[in-house]
Amino acid sequence: MDVSHIFEQLNEAQRSAVASEPGPLLVLAGAGSGKTRVLTYRVAWLVQVRNVSPLSILAVTFTNKAAQEMRGRIEGILGYPVGGMWMGTFHGIAHRLLRAHWREAGLAQGFQILDSDDQLRLVRRSLKQLNLDEGFWPPKSVQWFINAHKEEGRRPEGIPESQDAQQRELLRIYKTYEELCQRFALVDFAELLLRAFELVKHNELLRDRYQQRFRHLLVDEFQDTNAIQYEWLRLLAGQQRNIFVVGDDDQSIYAWRGARVENILQFEKDFPGTTVLRLEQNYRSSGTILEAANAVIDHNRGRLGKRLWTADEAGEPLRRYAAYNDIDEARFVVDRIQSWVDAGNLRSEAAVLYRSNAQSRVFEEVLLNAGMPYRVYGGLRFFERAEIKDALAYLRLITSRQDDPSFERIVNMPTRGIGNKTLDQVREHARINQTALWESALAQIHSHQLTKRSALALGKFIDLINALATDTQGLPLADRVDVVLQRSGLLQHYRKEKGEKAEARVENLEELINAGRNFDHDIDDDGDALASFLAHAALEAGDAQAEEWEDCVQLMSLHSAKGLEFPLVFLTGMEEGLFPHQRSLQEPGRLEEERRLCYVGMTRAMRQLYVTHAEVRRLHGRESYTSPSRFLGEIPKQLVDEVRSGFTLRPAVEAEAAAGGSGDADGMRLGDRVHHRKFGDGVVLSIEGRGQYTRVQVNFETGGSKWLVLAYANLDVL
Ligand code: ATP
Ligand code: MG
Repeated sequence: MDVSHIFEQLNEAQRSAVASEPGPLLVLAGAGSGKTRVLTYRVAWLVQVRNVSPLSILAVTFTNKAAQEMRGRIEGILGYPVGGMWMGTFHGIAHRLLRAHWREAGLAQGFQILDSDDQLRLVRRSLKQLNLDEGFWPPKSVQWFINAHKEEGRRPEGIPESQDAQQRELLRIYKTYEELCQRFALVDFAELLLRAFELVKHNELLRDRYQQRFRHLLVDEFQDTNAIQYEWLRLLAGQQRNIFVVGDDDQSIYAWRGARVENILQFEKDFPGTTVLRLEQNYRSSGTILEAANAVIDHNRGRLGKRLWTADEAGEPLRRYAAYNDIDEARFVVDRIQSWVDAGNLRSEAAVLYRSNAQSRVFEEVLLNAGMPYRVYGGLRFFERAEIKDALAYLRLITSRQDDPSFERIVNMPTRGIGNKTLDQVREHARINQTALWESALAQIHSHQLTKRSALALGKFIDLINALATDTQGLPLADRVDVVLQRSGLLQHYRKEKGEKAEARVENLEELINAGRNFDHDIDDDGDALASFLAHAALEAGDAQAEEWEDCVQLMSLHSAKGLEFPLVFLTGMEEGLFPHQRSLQEPGRLEEERRLCYVGMTRAMRQLYVTHAEVRRLHGRESYTSPSRFLGEIPKQLVDEVRSGFTLRPAVEAEAAAGGSGDADGMRLGDRVHHRKFGDGVVLSIEGRGQYTRVQVNFETGGSKWLVLAYANLDVL
């Protein structure tokens, strides 16, 4: 077998990882050193050189997108499709297991996935059922309590009775919540993992079967596995112990969600004889970017420690920009991206990273104004938009009538004369009889407890759902969605609404039909495309959001940038309180996690890295003065160029003019109002360069901000 084409793309250390003998193996290496690449080639090598069947490989990736990419790459290396290989996120794989073994897992066949919003709603309902006041029991905290226990594998029965009354009460809520989930055939994200874990733990037959089947386990981003995920992996690895994990302790950024970087140390203990390999050459970033990132992460204690080097040249310096406010920051970023594109590069090579999702809005606005296509990666998720959730609720209810959150969402959406009073009666009946709302509605209609009008309206809804279920059965997925949108009245409802928002909603709904059309569900799924589609919508929200074909700027939170790389990166909002985040300032552990996040952000950059901060920022509706992030101070000065702009630089410009200089700035000052023949009136935002190269940035009232060469611009100072 010719393996040279696999090996020639790898360095020596990578090769030894890819071709290592079976058994436990841990690749511990820094950002951009080729961990993901090694994992991918390992799969190809197993299949091609070791003749391992793709069916006996289980590969865990961090996002669904990563799974897709990896599958594509492996098929590229091998030259043929590898259907049947299990490759996906922990959640996706857990869901697949539970779908196949719902009975053994104690679930209903058509069980649905609860996303975080739906979960919160169900928590509220649990509180209501227990007559507890939301004021005393904030639903978000309860949700956190429940998830934290699930992530550690604790069911209510397994939690020792506490002395503390509050803890006891929380436990009671957890119990009630679990009962509701079970009754309505709903599974939240944490539950997916816990159930899948319990399934292989308690069911010896199944465990054997999957241990036999999955001869090779591979895990990317191992540093971010939580307790349950890790235990689940250990169970599946069984006696064969063919487990290949890659990770970087410096990139552990999910401790707040239960991830345990200690799993890296634990791994060697749990799998004696583990081969530990290190990769030290970084192939991603320029020397300067790498040096800056290394300097920042050096401020953390308690690292496993590693040195990264690159054969690349130093490249360009980092650039730092101090904006007056968040809008100026966004304009600057968009302006630089425009120059990047003007120079013949792709928009998709540019990524704008931020700490908090709320920051995306301003960038979106400025990008929109500039007419520059963009994509919010993992943010404004398509499947999270209200109208999409409405449509999905219809689809879910026709799949599973017990799905109460969906029932609640659409029973009167669009309005069909079913009032809150009627619904309260139905809810009360459901609570007393411990049934789903659907069944209670039926019972209420038949028992003549409702007014004639209400009963009629409710009956119509019931009939509609039943009819949609039967009439669309057997239709192709896209047609099913189409019919549901039409006959539910949803499309019409949004068409009647006025304005751009409503238009966008209609477009979104129409896009859902497209989504159905483009959806190819897994071939070895049980053939129910709608069920797969709904799971996909719940699990992959956002992953495949924008038009794939369009070249667009990438916007994303630092957390979702993990594993990715871009030639041009903007690390924005680098201010104390924002990044590092306010919540982390009091706790050293949290602060170190923020620094790792900064390291992750910086190491996404291949060629150019901008770091920006705003002196004034509007956050959560309030405007306040900020100070630059401490992480900026941790980057060695000689690696950074300050971009000259902003009122802060006024003295320098004045000094230059006063010194006689070139005088080319013509006495022009920042903040001056100027007039341009074509663009009209505007305000000078920045002045760069000197002599004949002096450039000014003017924010024109109609045309937005533009960079002009002063010598040619013929600006009149007003
Ligand atoms: P991260 O920690 O950020 O997830 P990683 O360790 O997984 O990074 P990869 O994404 O696998 O790193 O690799 C980083 C970049 O370097 C990719 O563009 C990859 O194709 C390239 N690369 C890795 N190894 C080599 C190599 N031996 N020769 C050329 N390019 C390589
Ligand atoms: Mg990677």
